[in-house]
Amino acid sequence: MIEKPILPPATLGMLGGGQLGRMFAVAARTMGYRVLVLEPDVHSPAGDIADEHITAAYEDGAALGKLAHSCKAITTEFENAPADSLRTLSGQCIVRPSGANVAIAQDRIQEKTFLRDNGFPVGPFAIIDNNHPLPTAAQGIRFPALMKTARFGYDGKGQAKVAALTDAQSIHAQWKQADCVLEEFLPLKSEVSVVLARGADGQTAAFPIAENQHRNGILDISIVPARVAPGIAEQAKTLAIRLAERLNYIGVLAVEFFVLRDDTLLINEIAPRPHNSGHFTIDACRTSQFEQQVRALCGLPLGDASLHSPVVMVNLLGDVWANGEPEWDFVLRHAGAKLHLYGKREARPGRKMGHFTVMGTTIETALAVALQIKKDLGIP
Ligand code: AMP
Repeated sequence: MIEKPILPPATLGMLGGGQLGRMFAVAARTMGYRVLVLEPDVHSPAGDIADEHITAAYEDGAALGKLAHSCKAITTEFENAPADSLRTLSGQCIVRPSGANVAIAQDRIQEKTFLRDNGFPVGPFAIIDNNHPLPTAAQGIRFPALMKTARFGYDGKGQAKVAALTDAQSIHAQWKQADCVLEEFLPLKSEVSVVLARGADGQTAAFPIAENQHRNGILDISIVPARVAPGIAEQAKTLAIRLAERLNYIGVLAVEFFVLRDDTLLINEIAPRPHNSGHFTIDACRTSQFEQQVRALCGLPLGDASLHSPVVMVNLLGDVWANGEPEWDFVLRHAGAKLHLYGKREARPGRKMGHFTVMGTTIETALAVALQIKKDLGIP
């Protein structure tokens, strides 16, 4: 049966009030939809610009009821949105992506197991939980390795590099025996990501792949198109689309990859939502990842995901505010640069406060300007 698309001025719901929700709200409101955000913080990037903000916990039954009653369709902007809340909402209105898909992405054990069991390439890992205690589970894992908590880790949090089994054991004790995965520390040549959308009709559209550089476990720069061999870019896109199909996914999905020194491509992790490494799409693609999120959510045909210009995206973390409000002229004086600030009231080190993108006729010209702006802003 062909589903009837949800058209403006319908109300769309967003579970979560962060910057991804804000950029979704901008896209949706631009298209004429109303946006209702459920978020516990009184002030939040998304809540501040939504048509309406329900200030309540993500698990609050009455608030979820109000959201479902008021909205034609609901999505989320972070994987720690309780999958159970999404499941509850799905009994009452359209919810995309599904709670089942979000549940896989929010737990590294489930995620890695799903990928391995479905034949997707992942690095060597061990599950550490009650059924798989550490010394035995770690057999076959070569050190150095990375311990990662199964849940609630992001931007390098809940991760520790361990040189030997004894280190892994002491970290595990520090983490109060939380469920973890132990991953071999891989020789990375680069990191790339594919952000794609899959519509209600199964149509897929992948954005050009991004080359991502991290600092302290947090994304620093994305360069698009990624400077990798064409074979790698194609392989990454094919794997990401196959994964979305295998998940029967509807919405925007991000797939992060490692490129090893021998050009082996491995999936690191997935995010059931638009992604920081897809922010370049706002300025440099015919359709942004957020418009695509609206389109997939509403059962509309997907937009054209092609790139109209090489682009570099640089994250602005709270550290840049160390001496007060940064001198934004350093960004805005460049004709090819775009500034995005998320309206967060408190700048903390490591906190994502905004980003800027620089477009150029080539990656090299865009990168040169982006690096100059970074230097001017005092970003290491
Ligand atoms: P994650 O939160 O899993 O995306 O990890 C954050 C960053 O840590 C990644 O983007 C990589 O730069 C690095 N990293 C994570 N896992 C590994 C690994 N198994 N081997 C080498 N580097 C890793």
